[in-house]
Amino acid sequence: MHLNKNSLHLTSFPVGSYACNCSILYSDKTGEAIIIDPGNDHEFILKKIKELQILPKKLLHTHAHFDHIGRSSEISAATGATIHLHKGDQFLYDMLPQQGLFFRQNVGTPKPIDSHLEEGETFSFVDPEINSFLTTLHTPGHTPGSCCFYSDYFDIPQLFAGDTLFQRSIGRTDLPGGDGSLIIKSIKNRLLVLPEETKVIAGHGPATSIYQEKKSNPFLC
Ligand SMILES: [Zn+2]
Repeated sequence: MHLNKNSLHLTSFPVGSYACNCSILYSDKTGEAIIIDPGNDHEFILKKIKELQILPKKLLHTHAHFDHIGRSSEISAATGATIHLHKGDQFLYDMLPQQGLFFRQNVGTPKPIDSHLEEGETFSFVDPEINSFLTTLHTPGHTPGSCCFYSDYFDIPQLFAGDTLFQRSIGRTDLPGGDGSLIIKSIKNRLLVLPEETKVIAGHGPATSIYQEKKSNPFLC
């Protein structure tokens, strides 16, 4: 999927052993980029960075499961991009080696988190056309530090939902730190109040919209 308005581009694609949907937002003027959920295949992402000729500045994570963050340290080391994660998921990040063992995945040694994501935190580029184009929404439930990112910069608003909301489904809450009633609360109070036309790029699988999920998500009706 590729979208653009003015100099801002958005490209989304699955990456890694669990096909995590990664999104890259970048300016074609300055080359600066933000990567949301780089997954767990750093070689693939580094190739993509070369292909697009971009300079990643920040790696944002919807949460700290290995399939979303497992190789971010390598990408950070290769590009200088900083690692961002909500502090509620610090314990999961510190447990990355154990997650790797449990799911039989190879994960590297995690670099320290550079910045803890805050509710309402916004992101901008140096490119003056692209100001505050992305906002952080803290949506706990799948994990305590789960966040979504929202952009109303494009003609159709975009929501990067991580493993909180899927097409006709919601994130699992049976893993450490999961909370079944909290995820429903987060989705209803923070996501379903967004404009109905908002496109939802889920952490895995096909994209959907707020309208579709309000109408047909069996977990929310
Ligand atoms: Zn997850």
